[in-house]
Amino acid sequence: MAEKRDYYEVLGVSRSASADEIKSAYKQITLKWHPYKWVNGTEEEKKKAEAIFKEASEAYSVLSDPEKKKRYDQFGHAGIDGQGAADFSNFDLNDILSNLFGGSFQGFGGFGGFGGFGGFGGQGGQARDRVIRGRDIRTRVKLTLEEIAKGVTKTVSIERNEACPECGGKGTKNASDIETCPNCKGSGQEQHVSAGIFGRTITYTTCPRCGGEGQIVKNPCRNCNGTGLIRKRVPIDVNIPAGIENGMQLSVSGQGHAGKRGGPSGDLLVLVEELPHERFLRDGKDLFCTQIISVTDAILGTEVTIQALDGAYKVKVEPGTQSGTVVRLKGKGLPGLRNYLGSSNGDLYVKFIVWIPKKLSKSEKEAIEGMRASESFTPNPSRDDRNLFEKMKENF
Ligand SMILES: [Zn+2]
Ligand SMILES: [Zn+2]
Repeated sequence: MAEKRDYYEVLGVSRSASADEIKSAYKQITLKWHPYKWVNGTEEEKKKAEAIFKEASEAYSVLSDPEKKKRYDQFGHAGIDGQGAADFSNFDLNDILSNLFGGSFQGFGGFGGFGGFGGFGGQGGQARDRVIRGRDIRTRVKLTLEEIAKGVTKTVSIERNEACPECGGKGTKNASDIETCPNCKGSGQEQHVSAGIFGRTITYTTCPRCGGEGQIVKNPCRNCNGTGLIRKRVPIDVNIPAGIENGMQLSVSGQGHAGKRGGPSGDLLVLVEELPHERFLRDGKDLFCTQIISVTDAILGTEVTIQALDGAYKVKVEPGTQSGTVVRLKGKGLPGLRNYLGSSNGDLYVKFIVWIPKKLSKSEKEAIEGMRASESFTPNPSRDDRNLFEKMKENF
């Protein structure tokens, strides 16, 4: 085996690169040189991709491990060899991947998990056919409490990339019009070598000829200018489950931007915004509102009608109800969002506020005046009332 290259050089980062920069550099290399992306390439290309990928993986296994990185920084390859640096040159690719990423490559790059690129096969191995997943689209919906209580279907209008109907997303009518970019030989990147105090540094920039695509379309489709994608505004129905909360996000799978060259579409991500309600306050599944009652109703007792979200309910006002008394209407709150706050309904809490008249007639004033000295009208909270006040504090 030839002399080992410097790990920083391999990843194309400086010695002072942060952990994130190292990870990002490695990700860039794997995105481009992952051997699964070259299964349709020539033997030479396959070998090259595998070699680059393995070299980068070995470098990353050391530089992403703080202990090993420290030894490497101090002693170079001598500090690592035989002390835990996996010699990736003899490893199986799947072992490397499961070593580094716990067996799952999904979500690390733009492709959907391994073995399942979704795009190989149909092209007969002609073009490189680098399948790229479409981007996600973010949008938001505003919902009233009434809509949240019942669940609702909202139609959102989004502008997204769709596969061009003229060329079927290929960018040209004939597959033979797609050629490997002569400038970058299909890699989509240009390599630049510069000499510095730590030796040569290799950096990669996007190929200016093909814009990083790795291929060039000779007779581009006129409808999409060879991109294979067209812009379209479309309405999408989004099902909003009952009980959803402000700030939650719904993901509508596959309704984002179309992928390039038949790649899978991104998702539509819908952020939920709850509009303030004029009568109700919300806390999770529970609702809170106030009900104003007259002094006489508070003293003598009565029955009032409470408008909940799902209808009207008669509620008894006990004789001697204090202002601020809270009654609970069990199950008249919001439905529980499945698998979140439990499926049972929340409660509606109603706080009675006693309204004190400001203007009285002469005779009313006299009548009230006559009660001023009465023992019944002298405040004397009983123990029951005190318990009530404690409960009120809990609820508000
Ligand atoms: Zn087209
Ligand atoms: Zn190119």
